[in-house]
Amino acid sequence: MYLNRRFIIASLGAIGLAGCNANAQTTQAASALPSDLRPIANAGFANWSASFRTRAAGAGISAHTLDAAFADAGYIPGVITRDRTQIQTRRTLEEYLSIATSDERLTKGRQAIARYANTLASIEARYGVEALIIAAIWGMESQFGEKRGQIPVISATATLAYDGRRRDFYESQLLAALRILERADTTPAQLRGSWAGAMGHTQFIPTSYQAYAVDFDDDGRRDVWADDPTDALASSASYLARNSWRTGLPWGSEAGTGGLSGRIIQPQRSGVKFAVTRNFDVLKTYNNSDLYAIGVGHLADRLGGAGPLKGSFPPDANGLTKSDRLAIQRGLTARGYDVGTVDGVIGAETEAAIRGFEAAQGLAVTGFATRELLNRLR
Ligand code: CA
Repeated sequence: MYLNRRFIIASLGAIGLAGCNANAQTTQAASALPSDLRPIANAGFANWSASFRTRAAGAGISAHTLDAAFADAGYIPGVITRDRTQIQTRRTLEEYLSIATSDERLTKGRQAIARYANTLASIEARYGVEALIIAAIWGMESQFGEKRGQIPVISATATLAYDGRRRDFYESQLLAALRILERADTTPAQLRGSWAGAMGHTQFIPTSYQAYAVDFDDDGRRDVWADDPTDALASSASYLARNSWRTGLPWGSEAGTGGLSGRIIQPQRSGVKFAVTRNFDVLKTYNNSDLYAIGVGHLADRLGGAGPLKGSFPPDANGLTKSDRLAIQRGLTARGYDVGTVDGVIGAETEAAIRGFEAAQGLAVTGFATRELLNRLR
């Protein structure tokens, strides 16, 4: 279960960390999906679907549910493209935290916490998982519900199962998704998520949904897709509680600042060290990455009013510090180039802006953020 969830999330490039992800899915009508992410007819897929439906019927899925689920389902070419080309973006911890705790995310997070304060408090009371931790997971996974994914889950998981690279895993996900429809937790039209099948505000894959999702608002449906995040947030709390979250224990702290004893980790060489606790390991059951768990913990701390980290990170491979990279982004912005979010992270948009600047200046076009570029922009 956890391993499965881990590689799904790792493969997403963290959909919630979409600040510099040009392919981020936002809340939008299905018709606004890029054409390569819409289901299309495919003879091989149709043959596979027919045989799968026999297996699904044998597993207890009704003909009614199968008819409804597959009525508009099809092969999604863009899902396979993404599955083939996924490269875990290698971000340093400094870059990861810059994105995870960007000003935009903090602002949206404070608004979301204010709006759902009562809901979060009720969830904390029932599951013993602190409201700020639940809010931070929400922020990391879907930017507080803004980026829940709009790709039809039946088509996406069926496409991946048909493709066969991880057939057993995706057939399990597809069956779990069909059980969602069988129980009428949501409708085929609402059953949407990421290209890899992660669904709703906190990006549960279907098998995790079946194991952990809860109907917190007692309307008879475990609805993690609705605009109202109540069930989704409670489901994440349920997940952490059942993975032994200890109420009141901090996740960790920057080493040397919190008086917290714990295991010391240093994910980025010469960078900030952290003292982490058992709850840090519980966060890693959600996504088995030190960066992710620190991201959740630090975002929770920041949303609770704590300041930035006190320690510093070393210069990057080009000898630039975060303040140098921010100066490059601000210099490009001042000259009319769009760098995306000014966050000190050199992503695809900043690189494109650098290329534009270099071309306009008659320089060799590299897209590299360098000391020389910084000097030209100053
Ligand atoms: Ca409900």
